[in-house]
Amino acid sequence: MIMAIMKVYVHTDIEGVAGYIYHEDRLQGELAKHEHVWRMKRLFTAELHAATSALLQCGVREIVVNDSHGPADNLIYEEIHPAVRLIHGPSTRMPMWLPRFDDSFDAMICLGMHAMAGTKGVLPHTRLDIEYGDGKQIALNEAGLAMALAGHFRVPAILVTGDATVCAQVRQYVPNIETVAVKEALSPYTAITHVPRKSHQLIKAGVRKAVRRRKQIHPFVLGPPPYRTTLIGSTPGFDRPSDVFEDSRSFWDLIQKALGSVYDYDLYDAQTWPLVPRGEPILNKHERAYRESLKSPRKTRRKKPRA
Ligand SMILES: [Zn+2]
Repeated sequence: MIMAIMKVYVHTDIEGVAGYIYHEDRLQGELAKHEHVWRMKRLFTAELHAATSALLQCGVREIVVNDSHGPADNLIYEEIHPAVRLIHGPSTRMPMWLPRFDDSFDAMICLGMHAMAGTKGVLPHTRLDIEYGDGKQIALNEAGLAMALAGHFRVPAILVTGDATVCAQVRQYVPNIETVAVKEALSPYTAITHVPRKSHQLIKAGVRKAVRRRKQIHPFVLGPPPYRTTLIGSTPGFDRPSDVFEDSRSFWDLIQKALGSVYDYDLYDAQTWPLVPRGEPILNKHERAYRESLKSPRKTRRKKPRA
């Protein structure tokens, strides 16, 4: 019998979900695009449901899911199992890296992951170059970053799902991690994919196997401090390099500091309201309008109330 693990953190992204093949257009509101976005949300939610239902069957009693793709409102929460608590909501252009994560979790699962920028996966993006100890170097994709942040708390990431490329990449971090490849890239925007009915079976089987093997799968602990970032990029051209950041003790602190700076917010300050940006943030039209409304009385004419 599988010994129950009590508490699992599910870190998610959408690009590695079976059927997801190009980025949603967040600027245009045409109906066709709207329908496409909803279709992708349904695929994502259904894969999450496959994973969480398998976790519950394995005796997991507490599941926290982090919706961490872009706008972070991708999961249709009406369709999620009541045992799950969901962290979601766009945090003012700031990446939310494992909010509420700590050493009370027994394991992490990374669902819907994609390959590193510049590598041959479906929609590959993001790369972090990290130096640790005496100048040793490692390049992390987003899954690897989540795994290493969990490793800071000595919590193992036991399963990664996504395309075949990201699966191969995370096995370089932790060779015996469980992986489920739901598709394979033929180009950045073309894949041979399993259909949802199959990807759900594979994910459920992967969850069961990962839970069974969890004691053999080590946390992804980067080598000793000090830690240093030399590059944080989101696109294959790495158009947003960071300054170099260092932390003499903690990989977790390094990442909070570095990403907080790249995105103009301090990660923890940004969780309070009102938000206090450090630099001039990139605002969408709603955020811009809100800021303007704080500065000056309303310029827009009020509509007459309807009869
Ligand atoms: Zn994403």
